[in-house]
This record gives sequence, structure tokens and C-alpha cells, in this order.
Amino acid sequence: MIFNKIVIVGIGLIGSSLARVIMKNKLAGKLWAYDNNPNYLAGAKELGIVDEVSSNLATAVKEADLVVYATPVGAYGEITRQIAPYLKKGAIITDVGSIKKYAIDEIEKNLPEGADIIVVPGHPVAGTEKSGPANGFDTLFEGRWYIVTPCKYSTQEAVDKVSALWAAAKMKVDSMSPEHHDKVMAAVSHLPHLIAFSIVGTVSDLEGYEKQEIIKYSASGFRDFTRIAGSDPTMWRDVFLNNKDTILELIQRFVEDLIALERNIRWGEGDKLFDLFSRTQKIRKEVIEAKQEQPEHEKRLLAEINRLEK
Ligand code: NAP
Repeated sequence: MIFNKIVIVGIGLIGSSLARVIMKNKLAGKLWAYDNNPNYLAGAKELGIVDEVSSNLATAVKEADLVVYATPVGAYGEITRQIAPYLKKGAIITDVGSIKKYAIDEIEKNLPEGADIIVVPGHPVAGTEKSGPANGFDTLFEGRWYIVTPCKYSTQEAVDKVSALWAAAKMKVDSMSPEHHDKVMAAVSHLPHLIAFSIVGTVSDLEGYEKQEIIKYSASGFRDFTRIAGSDPTMWRDVFLNNKDTILELIQRFVEDLIALERNIRWGEGDKLFDLFSRTQKIRKEVIEAKQEQPEHEKRLLAEINRLEK
């Protein structure tokens, strides 16, 4: 047991997956959940992945040692304002948000002056395109990275305790500044998501093509983009609007590279295309070697396809 009482605020995909890990490994004396979606709360109780649920945030966080924000980052300010008066001295707030600079600003600026509250911001770099407690699973985090991004309200002791929680979920732990985290994630996650949203939008709006045919033959490439583009709209709206400068810089770079590719195709510069594709093929191999492919996730996807086909 790492904490006496943990409260998860937002029992969706990430919150419910963490809840499963906490219950399975008995990492908390008591695990509570709060969510503004009453169906999700009822679902979490029914699934047996928490000890208690409450539709009252103040009641939920009473006597908590650890409060985990697992909502879209846009909700952090309001949640902090609501819970701060009810937290016990020395309580730790942590979060799972995909962007860190904005998340930290939202928490810090809404904590009362001189509050004896510790903050350990972090990001489990693991997920799927699904939402809600029914879609969570306890192996989601296995073998992935947990990035902790300490801030001025962090203590080393609290960072170690929160990191131990994620290590118990079989995550590898890394630490970096929030700014660096947001820069790295803009490249490995935000830009690829933006491109997927854009491609799925473009292909599905193309004139002169039968929508049915696009869906029918989608396994040739389109399908893989739809998996990413099927991600939660609220979460991704918050990410792009609040990691704006970094992502705008990357979009500019991407557009330049895309225009260069357009030119290569127009002028028949096959050697340049071949060089790039060889380089990207090598990167794919490196990703697999670094065990960042998700065989577990693929298995779930196949099971879902089989279920839908029956
Ligand atoms: P999710 O499945 O949609 O769960 C979020 C939950 O928070 C929903 O139940 C939502 O309810 C609830 N919620 C929204 N505003 C709230 C508020 N003010 N108070 C209480 N509950 C509230 O989303 P998720 O994928 O787990 O993402 C949650 C967080 O994890 C985000 O910050 C995201 O950046 C981060 N994250 C996501 C992934 C991923 O791949 N999905 C990976 C790593 C980190 P409603 O649906 O009714 O709004």
C-alpha cells in the first residue's frame, strides 16, 4: 500500500485503467472516484474498480492523501478551486494530462496562497482512442513511459511516492521539465494526431469518391489513421489550444516537408522519395526494437473487429 486514500477525479479511460491497477495491486487503503458523468460513476462502481464513488467533489477528496486528475486538462482550474478548501494538509495532487506547462499553470494559479498542498504533475504516455471506464484495462500502462515533470509545489518525497504508483503499473519512469515534455510530445504525439485528424477529414470529404468504397477498402492505410483520428475530441481540442506555439512551429515544418514531397513527385525525383522512405522504414524498425509497438492493443482491436463481424 502506497497511499491511505486515493481519489481519482475523472474515471474515464486513463482514470479507470489506473483504478484497476490500484485495486489489483492493493496500492491504496481506500480508492474513491468522482466524475461529472453519473453514468461513468455508476459504471465504475458496478465494475468493482473503486471502493467508493461520490457525485460530490468535496466529500470525495476529504482525508485523501492523493488526488489524481484524470479529466481533460481544461477542467483542472475549476477542479483545483473546488477541492483546495477541503484537502488535508500535505495532500498530494497529481495528474495524467498530455500537456504539462498549461496543466501546471492551471493548478498553481488556483491554489490558495500558502496552501500546504503538494503537486506532482505527470503524464503516463499510454492510451487508446477509446473513452470511459468500460474501455480501461489494467495492462494499459505496461512497458510504457511515465514522465514526471516536477514544479515549484513538488517535493522529492512526493515525486518518489507518485512514481512508485506508476512503477507498480509496470511503467518505466522518466523525469523532465514541463517545457521539454511539451516539446517532445508535440513531435511524437500532437503532430501525428493532427495529421490523422486532417487526413481522415480530407479523405472523407473528397468529392467524386463513394464513401462506402473508402470504408470498404480502408485497411490499405486509411484505417490506421482513423484509429488515431477516433480519439476524444475534448481532450485533443484542449491539447492543441494549450500547446499552441510548439505545435504551430511543427505544423510549419511539416507543411514545408510536404511541399518538398509534392515537388519530388511532380519532377519524378524517385531517388529522393526512395531515400526518405528508406529512412522512415528504419525508424519503424527502431520503434519496434524499442518495444513501443502495442501487441496487446492490436489483440484488443482484432477481438473488437471479430465481435462486430458476428
Ligand atoms: P475520458 O475517457 O474521456 O475520461 C475523462 C473523464 O473525465 C470523463 O469521464 C469526463 O466526463 C470526466 N470529466 C470531464 N470534465 C470533468 C470535470 N470537470 N470533473 C470531473 N470529471 C470530468 O478521457 P481520457 O482519455 O481518460 O483522458 C483523461 C486525461 O488523460 C486527459 O487529460 C488526457 O490528456 C490524459 N491522457 C490521455 C491519454 C489517451 O490516450 N486517452 C493518454 C495519456 C494521457 P464526460 O465524458 O462526461 O465529460
